[in-house]
Amino acid sequence: MKRSLVMPGVSLGEPGSTVELDADSAHYLRDVLRLEAGAVLWLFDGRGKRAEIVLCSLAKRVALAEIRVVTEIERPSPSIELVQAVSKGDKMDLVVRQCTELGVSAILPVVSERSVAERRARVERWRSIAQDAVRVSGRAFEPEIHEPIELEAWLHRPRADLSLSFSGSETHGLRDLAIDRAAVRRIEVVVGPEGGFSERERDRLRAAGTRAVSLGAFTLRTETAGAVAVALLMYLAGRLGAPGEG
Ligand code: SAM
Repeated sequence: MKRSLVMPGVSLGEPGSTVELDADSAHYLRDVLRLEAGAVLWLFDGRGKRAEIVLCSLAKRVALAEIRVVTEIERPSPSIELVQAVSKGDKMDLVVRQCTELGVSAILPVVSERSVAERRARVERWRSIAQDAVRVSGRAFEPEIHEPIELEAWLHRPRADLSLSFSGSETHGLRDLAIDRAAVRRIEVVVGPEGGFSERERDRLRAAGTRAVSLGAFTLRTETAGAVAVALLMYLAGRLGAPGEG
């Protein structure tokens, strides 16, 4: 099997052209994988393009490769988006990293009644964490990291084909959920903040068309719940693909 390398945003030119690999990639290929000139591998741009490349030269901080073939990759379906109530400190960093590794297509931070969030938006930081997670996990697509919005504003948006809001006080679990892949192309996963959603917000989520589900009897931290919910849905939706597919 060919090794994969992801360089988010790299421009993949015509077959026969050369591409310069950055210092991190050169280090990874040379010192971790111990590859040499002549090795053939996949290079992903994080936006759905994949190139077969052959290494021409490999120095400590830079590597050059020749592009052989470039192909477009289809977006995996159903897409899974995480709607996460923003939390304080570094919790969102962990959510962004883990859920990117798991293959989410987007993360939408929402501000809810009990969100204990710093008002300073950290979107640029989250985007750079997501890029790093794409690189490390070998995903073909970078997730979209949105600017935070109020939960109420999000509720007014059109719902996905399947919209699930997670709550520990629900009795319905994921066990009975059958996902018809022909009908369900987009899934939304809604997770509350440290203190959970208020009674009023839970009513509003239901009225706006989300289905309330539980992850079991134990209370998970907000930064754990999103990753667990996304992982289970990836499994239920048959989305555990080969490297580079998601
Ligand atoms: N006392 C809070 C409550 O009753 O909602 C606990 C909030 S929990 C720390 C943070 C978020 O993680 C919840 O709003 C929910 O979205 C999710 N969560 C945690 N444990 C869960 C479970 N067992 N089932 C479903 N969602 C859960």
